[in-house]
Amino acid sequence: MKKIIIILSLIFIFIFSNFNQPVINLIDNPYIISDKISIIKDTKDIKPFIEVSTASSYTIDVDMKYVQTHKKGIYNALVTLNTPDKIHHKIIQVEVLDKIMYLTFDDGPSYNTIKILEILDKYDIKATFFVTAENKNYKYLIKEAHLKGHTIGLHTYTHDYSYIYSSKENYFRDLNQIDEYVEDILGIKTPYIRFPGGSSNTISKKYSKGIMSLLSKEIQAKGYQYYDWNLSSSDAEKPLMKKEDIIKSSVSKTYNGNNDYIILLMHDTSSKTTTVEALPEIIEYYLNKGYTFKPIDKTSFIYHQKIHN
Ligand code: ZN
Repeated sequence: MKKIIIILSLIFIFIFSNFNQPVINLIDNPYIISDKISIIKDTKDIKPFIEVSTASSYTIDVDMKYVQTHKKGIYNALVTLNTPDKIHHKIIQVEVLDKIMYLTFDDGPSYNTIKILEILDKYDIKATFFVTAENKNYKYLIKEAHLKGHTIGLHTYTHDYSYIYSSKENYFRDLNQIDEYVEDILGIKTPYIRFPGGSSNTISKKYSKGIMSLLSKEIQAKGYQYYDWNLSSSDAEKPLMKKEDIIKSSVSKTYNGNNDYIILLMHDTSSKTTTVEALPEIIEYYLNKGYTFKPIDKTSFIYHQKIHN
C-alpha cells in the first residue's frame, strides 16, 4: 500500500510539474492589442513591444515568471495595463527566438519580385523589402508583398546619390516622396529605413561632408529607424555575380562576428537573376542550421554600421 501511494505521488508530481504555464484563458481585452510577440533571446524589457490602445495615461506590468528569456520557446505572460480608471489583464504569448535571419531586398520592386515572393511562399518565410519608386510598373507588388506579411521599408525615391546626399533638405525631400508613395499604396506608414549604400557609405562624402552622421540621428528623431546589414550577399559587387559566389558570401561570417542575428543584404532588380537562383539554397542552408526567418519589425535586432562620413 505504502509503495502504491509513493508511486501515485510520484506520478502526480511528474504530471503537475509539467504544468509550469499559467492555466488562464486568454482574456480578450480591446486595450491590449498584442496577442503574441516575438523577442530575441535575453531581451530584458519586453514592455516596449506590447501594443496598447488607450487615450488615457497608462503603465504596463508584465509577469515574466513563466518566460525563460534565455531559452528558445513559446511562453505565456500576464500583461497588466493600469489606466487611471481601470486595470486590464491579458495573457499574451511570448516567443523567444535565438538564431534569426532577416532577409532584406533593396531596390525593388522589379521583374524578379514575383519570383522572390514565390520562393518565400514555398518555404513559408517572411522577409523585408526596402523599396524605391524607380520601377512604377511593378508598384502593385509592394502591396502584394505587404499582404503576404512581408515588411515594406523605405529605401529611396530616386536612388540618386548626388541628389539625396547633397543636403539634409534633399535627403528628406526624397524620403518624404518614397514615404508618401508607399503610404499611398499600402494605406499605412512604415518607419523602417535602409540608407542607399548603407549608413557607412563614403560616396556621400563627395556631395556633403558629415551628412551620414547628421541623417542617422535626424531620422531617428523623426520616428524612423534604419537597418544596415551585417552580411552582404555580394550580389551588387558586379552587374551579375555568379550564383555560387552569392551563396558563398551569404553563408559567411557576419561583419560583427555575431551569427545569431543576421541581416542579409540582397538586391531585387530586374537584372539580378542569379540572386533569385541563389535564394533557395541560402534559405535551406539557414533552415538546416535552425534559424527562424523574420521580417523586420519593432522587436527586431538592429544593426548599425560604423559611420564614416
Ligand atoms: Zn539601393
